[in-house]
Amino acid sequence: MDLREAARYSLADFFVGDTDDILAPPAEYTEWRAATTWATALYERSMLGAPASRVAVEANGDKWPVINLASYNYLGLATHPETVAAAKAALDQYGTGACGSPILSGMTDLHRELETELAKFLGRESVMLFNSGYGGALGALSGLLRKGDACIVDAKSHLCLIDGTRLSGAALVTFAHNDARALDAALSRAKGKRRLVVLEGIYSMDGDVGALPELVAVAEAHGAPVFIDEAHSILTLGARGRGAVESCGVEGRIGLQYATFSKAFASVGSFVAGSKATLDYLRFYANPYGFSCALPPPVVAAVLAGLRVATRDDLLRVRLRENAAYFRRQLHAIGLDTGESTSHVVPIILGKHRELLYMLSYALLARGLFVAPVDYPSVPDDQVRFRASITAAHTKAELDEALDILELTVARALRAAA
Ligand code: PMP
Repeated sequence: MDLREAARYSLADFFVGDTDDILAPPAEYTEWRAATTWATALYERSMLGAPASRVAVEANGDKWPVINLASYNYLGLATHPETVAAAKAALDQYGTGACGSPILSGMTDLHRELETELAKFLGRESVMLFNSGYGGALGALSGLLRKGDACIVDAKSHLCLIDGTRLSGAALVTFAHNDARALDAALSRAKGKRRLVVLEGIYSMDGDVGALPELVAVAEAHGAPVFIDEAHSILTLGARGRGAVESCGVEGRIGLQYATFSKAFASVGSFVAGSKATLDYLRFYANPYGFSCALPPPVVAAVLAGLRVATRDDLLRVRLRENAAYFRRQLHAIGLDTGESTSHVVPIILGKHRELLYMLSYALLARGLFVAPVDYPSVPDDQVRFRASITAAHTKAELDEALDILELTVARALRAAA
């Protein structure tokens, strides 16, 4: 298989194979992986330090110093002195791990403190913590939805929301992205069933914000509760950082607010915030909660310290917004397409040029820029892209250096290909 032929395939082509042995992957997959080692080596790359705005990455046995536009460390909390000190202190007091499910022995006073502070911050009755973002969404949806229910999900929703719905046995109904009329039609079609509407704050591949005022109004008109995934918007959107529900003015009208600790909180895990009655039920029916170890206390301490740093004032959020707006404006000035993005998640869309995506990734690394390539099936086949994550920690000089590299590589290559 030569390079040109290999570029015609994607992971979606090998999901179903024809081997008799479950442990033997399809022969064509193995051949394709061998032919595309140069491209797939871009994934699972080793970072040789903290996910800060500058980092070294490992490639071909060498260290490459890069400006990092690939990490979700949106507020720079991964290396903030207060989050690091809190994690170290918790390590001394509580040890490395919780060593038990929260239901049995994994809960600590630190976990309870984080639940209480998050609930207070969001103005909700109750909060429960999960040890993963993906697992939290999976647990919350599969813990509440039942066979016979309908889960009405925006077409651009993250896979954890889709998988949680599938696991529950509820009908999965998608509606056109951010389209209030399509949501209305989907809710009407599912009339008579218990229905849940699932939305996101910032969509992770496009960087646009959920059209919450319109969509929440439609859900309310149908009497359907709303679940919102604020993975990329918690601490970053809203004047005080309470997410898209705050920036869109729909706080108090959302049944369940879910967000991860892996992005602006710069850690790992997630939480769901809602009424005490809902969460008292969910704690015993969300299997990723009851049947999996609680978050390690040093992680909980770092998240708690991060919450305090990020809500003490609005400086980090303001800097993030200024950086993101500047970066998007400058990308447009060099002729690059950022799609619908209005946030710190900034796609640089290459369209159907998959070969360019991989070749340019190497050129970018060699010039000192690390930005994530995103291929089909994570995005449509004709919309492959780089996805830049802008943070409050990037300096203007770093953003300018990144923009110069993007002009010399991506913008130039796309002009030549046009
Ligand atoms: N929801 C969204 C919208 C996401 O983008 C992600 C991860 N990128 C998740 C949930 C899962 O979060 P985690 O990586 O913390 O498991």
